[in-house]
Amino acid sequence: MHTPEYDFVPSNPYLLLTPGPLSTSKSVRFALLRDWCTWDSDYNEDIVQVIRRKLVALATSKTDDYTSVLMQGSGSFSVEATIGSVVPEDGNLLIITNGAYGNRIVKTAEALKIAHVVYNLTETEAPDAAAVATQLAEDPSITHVVLVHCETTTGMLNPLEEIASAVKAHKKVLIVDAMSSFGGIPLDMSKLGIDYLIASSNKCIQGVPGFGFVIAKRNELQKCDGNARSLCLDLYDQWKEMDATGKWRYTSPTHVVRAFFQALEELEVEGGIEARHARYAENQQLLIEGMAQLGFNTLLPRKLQSPIITSFLYPNNEFEFESFYLDAKAKGFVLYPGKISQADTFRIGNIGEVYPDDIKALLKALGS
Ligand SMILES: *Cc1c(COP(=O)(O)O)cnc(C)c1O
Repeated sequence: MHTPEYDFVPSNPYLLLTPGPLSTSKSVRFALLRDWCTWDSDYNEDIVQVIRRKLVALATSKTDDYTSVLMQGSGSFSVEATIGSVVPEDGNLLIITNGAYGNRIVKTAEALKIAHVVYNLTETEAPDAAAVATQLAEDPSITHVVLVHCETTTGMLNPLEEIASAVKAHKKVLIVDAMSSFGGIPLDMSKLGIDYLIASSNKCIQGVPGFGFVIAKRNELQKCDGNARSLCLDLYDQWKEMDATGKWRYTSPTHVVRAFFQALEELEVEGGIEARHARYAENQQLLIEGMAQLGFNTLLPRKLQSPIITSFLYPNNEFEFESFYLDAKAKGFVLYPGKISQADTFRIGNIGEVYPDDIKALLKALGS
């Protein structure tokens, strides 16, 4: 969004074409520039509680049934807080994984000693809802299922709707890591039957890094008192305190929170998630068409591809990503490495304060 009144804010030396932290607007960066006390209503009521309500409204039309919790740290801290606070001692978590972020959830469950089973796929395979249904039918000990929505490792958009309906048919609790998709891809938690959705400040809402958030079905979260394996990452306790007073239990990242508040306003001005999704989709379309002309093919077929980030195959054996990367950076564009186990790839993100003109400028720079 071009806001001439913020032209005085210094420009970035390059455009981040990464899945977060990503390029933010000057107005978001300007919002960082003042200090806040954390005990008065001008912060707790007018910023924190407003953010919490807006997040719920972005996630579902049934706002009364859902609530939200903000949590210090990067997105992984919120994933850990959720897994660690939601799955009870006698629970069993089915983790669907086809990339680094799914694998990180497996590691989290291991670290927290949470009983889990893994539906393990390669990075280019999409999970199959029928296979999930079979697994749930055959193993009644499973109580919770977690799925990564957009697997940022490759840019694959996992089949959330199909898997959610399999999970709901078996009456299991569904947790979705929508870190890199929430705010950029429309969804309704209530319609899909998602119980917990996790994302963070520095992805499609286009804020700066510093906290994550969880949107939760209220009557599910209410059951989680005393479950947590951690003091700081206790999602339930954080919610109780925040819901009552707008206070974070421990020091909150005030500047980041204020900038996020600004980012949410800018999402509204843009026209909401639908409009943002349309911009991202246009960015991505231009990107894959232009890259194809430069000789770069995508790793994934179109139907598995998210409008968030795209993996490109190395065009030939001589290709050196390092020099390609440095050349692009010198021209003002930061790309994203991304070797996977089955192929040599790199990634280009198209989320953040990034517009079709930026993608055209990138393609011109890469072609010259
Ligand atoms: C970014 C991201 C995370 C969180 O990563 P952090 O480095 O902790 O911010 C988790 N899951 C997915 C799918 C992501 O894209």
